[in-house]
Amino acid sequence: MSRFVCLLLAALSMSAVHADPLHAWVDGDDPAKLEQWVAERLGAEQASLSKLLAVKGKRTVANTLEPYDEAQNQLALAGNQAYLAFAVGKTAELRSKGQMLNEKVASAVTDLNLNQKVYEALAAVPLPDRDPATRQYLKHTLLEYKLAGVSKDEATRNQIHALQDKITSLSLTFNRNVQDGMLSITATKAELDGLPADLVARLKANADGTFTLTTDEPDRAPVMTFASDAGLRRRMYLAYNTRAYPANKQVLLDLLAARQQLAAILGFPTYADLATADQMTGNAANVRKLLDEIDAASRDITKQEYAQLLAMVQKRQPGTTAIPGSDSAYWAEQYRRERYAFDAQSVRPYFPYDKVETGILDTAAKIFHVRFIPVKDATLWHPSVTVFDVIDGGKKVGRIYLDMHPREGKDKWFSSAPVVPGIRGRQLPEGMLVCNFPGGVEGDPGLMEYQDVVIFFHEFGHLMHHILGSQNRWSQQGGFNVEGDFVEAPSQMLEEFFHNYGVLAGFARHYQTGEAIPADLVKRMNAADAFGRGRMMQAQMFYSAMSLNLHDRPLAQVDLDAQLRQLSERFLPFTFVEGNRMYASFTHLTGYASNYYTYALDKVIALDFYARFNRDHPLDGKSTADYRRLVINPGATKPAAELVKDFLGRPQNMAAMKTWMAEEFSN
Ligand SMILES: [Zn+2]
Repeated sequence: MSRFVCLLLAALSMSAVHADPLHAWVDGDDPAKLEQWVAERLGAEQASLSKLLAVKGKRTVANTLEPYDEAQNQLALAGNQAYLAFAVGKTAELRSKGQMLNEKVASAVTDLNLNQKVYEALAAVPLPDRDPATRQYLKHTLLEYKLAGVSKDEATRNQIHALQDKITSLSLTFNRNVQDGMLSITATKAELDGLPADLVARLKANADGTFTLTTDEPDRAPVMTFASDAGLRRRMYLAYNTRAYPANKQVLLDLLAARQQLAAILGFPTYADLATADQMTGNAANVRKLLDEIDAASRDITKQEYAQLLAMVQKRQPGTTAIPGSDSAYWAEQYRRERYAFDAQSVRPYFPYDKVETGILDTAAKIFHVRFIPVKDATLWHPSVTVFDVIDGGKKVGRIYLDMHPREGKDKWFSSAPVVPGIRGRQLPEGMLVCNFPGGVEGDPGLMEYQDVVIFFHEFGHLMHHILGSQNRWSQQGGFNVEGDFVEAPSQMLEEFFHNYGVLAGFARHYQTGEAIPADLVKRMNAADAFGRGRMMQAQMFYSAMSLNLHDRPLAQVDLDAQLRQLSERFLPFTFVEGNRMYASFTHLTGYASNYYTYALDKVIALDFYARFNRDHPLDGKSTADYRRLVINPGATKPAAELVKDFLGRPQNMAAMKTWMAEEFSN
């Protein structure tokens, strides 16, 4: 977007034929063009590195860190667009090319991380005294070089490189198997009992009178929550949890082996220790300690919740001794209806997709003191994508892309990703949401579950962190560049706004009558939603322990099925369903590896943050402005622990989380 970048690239790459150095998709869906676009970014990266290495004499921020950051910027652009093509590309060919280019860019990143000459040049730059952000950038960069193994001899560096390439390739294969791994089940007419009428209406009967449901979210979630037939729920549960099995079992074992080898070469006792060395936690032992504390704080509450749930099930189905995992969402929903007179379907008419999108933009505008202006003339990768410019104090500060509804071959989950890194005065940050919410089809109002709306708030929190936190001097000090285990704090903080009536009443209107969501209904929804908070934290302990235990011991001691069963039994009150292979589609194992605990740690931080806001009017007062200034705007210019302290005046603690869990018994 910035002219400066265009001119710079034109100078660096004389053969450039692509008009837009920030957006590969404007060239269309031709995989060859994407490949060429990525090659141009990598060419620009190499040109910046040559410039850096050609410097004679004294090393300075200007002659060394600047070209280094520009090289990183080009790598980020290339990687972001390769990822975009992989996750949301229109054709299978383009997605495959995206996957291949992801590997290529990741390999170029490893090249740079193991480049001794670049490391020596950066190490020779004096740490600036009066520029704390640049000081932090240099210090952090040098730490990452050490963790990457830059000081090893050449043969060892080659070995590290080969392992990194293998890890990237296995991770992409794992994700692709999940992305493409949709399974279908069939249901008789009678088995559809309990499902929302608009879902049933869109199902077409097969020749034999049955109906086909897929493991994609718009079918899976309602079946698990509302279908009265336990057999149908169980079939869906098993289909969903085996959709990438058996293929991904071996892929995962190979991935764990490669990671373990890498950690050993780099001198760490386990991969979990390597992966936490640059995080807030610092090492695997601290993670274990954190998990034990959260476990202790949530275990008894979970027992109480389960006893209440089981008592209700036993009244309805005498003789029941336990609730299987495939029935947990259904019975929790039944319990909410009975105990709180709240039916999750009753709020769906107030959450048609389009109104929710507008409402979330309006709410974010108030929290962050910005405006969103729709962009009508942008060239996009798919016609269903919507685009907004973010305006701050009358000035454009970035752009967001919303790709919100499922389509064939598209990534199946909910996520937020950077598209363009931000560089102050030179390049505006851009980010995207990749979601699978209902709607987007002519005639379908896209009625959302309230949990969908919470997810939307969550993902939007990431997006705002990226846009507003990426207004710094360096491309690698944006919102997404904070320590990995702080990344989920701003997103989970935004989830809390969903529970405020004032916020909801602003946009939740009945899709047919236009009536605002009744206050009493929101009250019951919040009371009902609070039920199960202990269980939710225990479920997070289950995922966290799964992710940690696969990475903190020799592979010979890892039995995926035994771990899954053992940790289910330890943390989940529900009985294990035979045939569950959840690890084969646990995609967080590729992105977060051992560090799934991020969600639990950041929930603690998010609740501590939110407790600072006005409880009844969270959009009022100084807190929103303070939060933006102290936590969001700095991006990665400070260690995350400092951001926490700046806002709270102390490090985070578990008091707010304990209060939050206890609330459910006061309703
Ligand atoms: Zn998130």
